[in-house]
Amino acid sequence: MKDLAIVFDFDDTLVHTRINYVNSIKWVNTKYLPKLSFKHFLEGFEKSMEENLNHLLDSETKNDIHPFHPLIFIKNFYKFLDKNSVSYDKKLIEKKVLSFLADVQIRGDSLKVLNKLEKFELYLITVGDEKWQKSRIHKTGFEQFFNKMFFVIEKDDVLKGLKKEYKTVIMIGDSLKSDILAANNSGAIAIHLTGGDTWSYRHSDDAKPDHVIDNLDEVVEIVNKYSFKPLTT
Ligand SMILES: [Mg+2]
Repeated sequence: MKDLAIVFDFDDTLVHTRINYVNSIKWVNTKYLPKLSFKHFLEGFEKSMEENLNHLLDSETKNDIHPFHPLIFIKNFYKFLDKNSVSYDKKLIEKKVLSFLADVQIRGDSLKVLNKLEKFELYLITVGDEKWQKSRIHKTGFEQFFNKMFFVIEKDDVLKGLKKEYKTVIMIGDSLKSDILAANNSGAIAIHLTGGDTWSYRHSDDAKPDHVIDNLDEVVEIVNKYSFKPLTT
């Protein structure tokens, strides 16, 4: 059995992502419902987005499009604007929102941390459409660091699989629901990265992080505690 696997989440862990969504929501708000305050627009929109997503995740029929694909997110705008009886330009919304979402900003010291941890076996698990996520990961150049990248809807199964191969699996992510709870369910060490921007609907009261950090570089010290071959830095 191998010693240690370190698993990273991508969105809002290694890069800033939610801000892109918020910027696109702001744009639609200003363009089509300017009289509705952003706070109310965001609250209403996030609620309807959560409902649509839960419906997609619960549905028995297999969807031909990933539930977290940006086009699914864009459809939420159509539904929300329909509900508010607003007329809108579908093509324009699609073009604008996709350009917001394609933006990739590296979070904090991600690159430095990946470089420091390079000698370990690193993995990436991301919830999202493979093609879309790959194109965004490619903009960071981070794929070179990972043994393998997984594109999933839920992370439990991948973590359980890694736990069969490695004595210790460490999962690092910003989302209590998709990262920390999945790690708890799989026997992985859970490191919760806070201080960023995380969707309210990705919260979970049941998740129990083993470590809480607000800077990714704190991961290096924690990894050293679990490794038989600690880094000397
Ligand atoms: Mg995340």
